[in-house]
Amino acid sequence: MLHQGYQCIVTCIGSTPPHKGIDMLRDVKYLLWDVDGTLYKSKPDLLEAIQREIYVRIATGLSIPYEEARRRFLALYARLGGATATAVELGLDRRLVQEAVDSVDKTKYLKPDPRLRDMFEETLRTFTHMIITNTSRKGTIRTLEILGLSPNIFQRIVTADDVVQSKPNVEPYMKALDTTGSAAHQHVSIGDREKVDILPAKKLGMKTILVWGVSEAADVSVPTIYDVPSVLV
Ligand SMILES: [Mg+2]
Repeated sequence: MLHQGYQCIVTCIGSTPPHKGIDMLRDVKYLLWDVDGTLYKSKPDLLEAIQREIYVRIATGLSIPYEEARRRFLALYARLGGATATAVELGLDRRLVQEAVDSVDKTKYLKPDPRLRDMFEETLRTFTHMIITNTSRKGTIRTLEILGLSPNIFQRIVTADDVVQSKPNVEPYMKALDTTGSAAHQHVSIGDREKVDILPAKKLGMKTILVWGVSEAADVSVPTIYDVPSVLV
């Protein structure tokens, strides 16, 4: 009943104590976390603020009206799945998206999350944690700071600054494998987007958990970030 086929959605499991985790995740030692939209539930107003900054920069960079910039970005983004990949495809600097993200004051949208901190420092303390994000190092550290998470929780933080190609490319995940030197199946990628957080990790043989939603491609889907321990421990 716990393991109906490959897909298991934690909401269907119920809470039969004690939790035993999910069998296919038993060997996992390394947890690779996406940050934005994963460590906090995606905020529509924050996303809109970031998107406005992206469109303004594309309009300026290509000398086209704002509306056209928006249209061209969205059309390409639907196909490519990554904002940075989209900017590059448009012939713009790959730092454009990072600069747009960093220009938004996240303290207006995010706040410290003691429950999240306890999850890392207590419930999941026996795992080795890493961050795999398409955001800049500066922006990532800032977000951790606002959420109340110490960067020391993470053995390695792989950001857009550390790779040639961001997710959905496999390069950021290869960095994690290089760091641990362990088999791919001992790693689990945890994120909110199938195209960037699930598919590339899966291609390398890693396990995958989609948070804040449901993914057919992921090994497990959980309704919130706080449900991740229930499938691991
Ligand atoms: Mg995300």
